[in-house]
Amino acid sequence: MTLSFTSLGLSAARVSHLEAMGYHEPTAIQAEAIPHLLSGRDLIGQAQTGTGKTAAFSLPLMEQVDNNNPTVQALVLTPTRELAIQVCQAMRSYRLQGRPKVLALYGGQSIERQQEQLRRGTQIVVGTPGRVLDLLGRGTLSLKGLGWLVLDEADEMLNMGFIQDVEKILSQAPGDRQTAFFSATMAPEIRELATKFLQSPVTVTVQSPKASPKQIQQMTYVVPRGWTKVRALQPILEIEDPETALIFVRTRRTAGDLTRQLQAAGYSVDEYHGDLSQSQRERLLMRFRQQQVRLVVATDIAARGLHVDDLTHVINYDLPDAVESYVHRIGRTGRAGKTGVAISLVTPLEKYKLRQIERHTKQPMTFAKIPTRAEIAARNLEKLRTQVREAITSERLASFLPIVSQLSEEYDLRTVAAAALQMAYDQTVPAWQRHDQHATEDSSPRKAAPPVKKRKSKSGKTEPREATKAQD
Ligand code: AMP
Repeated sequence: MTLSFTSLGLSAARVSHLEAMGYHEPTAIQAEAIPHLLSGRDLIGQAQTGTGKTAAFSLPLMEQVDNNNPTVQALVLTPTRELAIQVCQAMRSYRLQGRPKVLALYGGQSIERQQEQLRRGTQIVVGTPGRVLDLLGRGTLSLKGLGWLVLDEADEMLNMGFIQDVEKILSQAPGDRQTAFFSATMAPEIRELATKFLQSPVTVTVQSPKASPKQIQQMTYVVPRGWTKVRALQPILEIEDPETALIFVRTRRTAGDLTRQLQAAGYSVDEYHGDLSQSQRERLLMRFRQQQVRLVVATDIAARGLHVDDLTHVINYDLPDAVESYVHRIGRTGRAGKTGVAISLVTPLEKYKLRQIERHTKQPMTFAKIPTRAEIAARNLEKLRTQVREAITSERLASFLPIVSQLSEEYDLRTVAAAALQMAYDQTVPAWQRHDQHATEDSSPRKAAPPVKKRKSKSGKTEPREATKAQD
């Protein structure tokens, strides 16, 4: 069942603003948490980054704070400054007419400036525990008017040793506030903290997908230093030759860029995103199912609307932040007893993320080398050999024999066969794959084959020059 933001209790103005941002329907955590938060319940949300949790806690707050009251009414605590900035930006993007005010407070930035901003008044503060405590101590930040408090990534707070700071802040907040904790995992310490500071909270959990099924082959390619990911992806696509692949990227922007680059290189690829109209989505889906489009690029969120899960390949162009998302992504291949292939592209710096994934899936990753031009060529020739074997056993072969007889009077039979193969090769391997642009080594058979010329042998018969010898 698809829920709408309206049915969750958000105002019409907010819903149309969200629509305009490409948020057409709530994510699972939003659908579950928003109604509770709007009704004033304390809440524990078990959800990872990438699930839409930021909007899940931000939207109810933003609907309820009093924009005409300049005191801090809502506080969101985050473990890192990056997350504080990210949450602050997300909240600002959900605003209507630039209200309420949202301020990020974190260490490493001039405290005087932050104090000045606080003096000017703000309804919402997003901050890291250390800086928030500091400003509370200086008396510039006051929690007297606080009605809402959110602890984001509570487990990270614990890992980073911030729990005591968090406790201090929580105990300074008024008792009649609404509190929500969001955490990917529920460590006993977090539960304890929740028991102490939350009042009969409701717990919402977004289901973690199950561990990876066995029939998925998981491969990782490390992008060589100095290479772009898109350069590394192309030989992989050539060797894998996916019938249908979903390529996951982190941001909408990468989705657009990658789609354009692959299209320019001649691939059959489209982007799937939230701004597509219903009919555009359906058309893309149909073309994808019929393999008219073989590659679709999407972010995790956009891909939720793409109801295809019988893919030959899933490609993690960017690894997801959450291990659960990885499992969820690759679960779209290898269904119904078929073997699927999950490919991850990682930079040398991202290798550590693989260990987390391996620990979670309890399956080792296979590392593969980016295929060289020679390997791609060899694979294409192998494919051609298989096709020739199949053609030899087909009934239609007989209708071509008269042409062979005619040509054999002019040319050696081996020459005729090689020419026919060259034509078939050129048809099965599209021109863009025969270019040098993504070569890691240069030994394409196309380039290697010198032109076949007629020439007289000593015996007077017409013989070909050797047509298959490489000439680099
Ligand atoms: P988060 O898990 O909060 O970090 O959100 C992950 C990404 O999903 C962010 O880029 C959000 O802008 C996006 N997002 C959140 N909710 C929705 C939604 N309902 N529809 C489309 N995108 C969303």
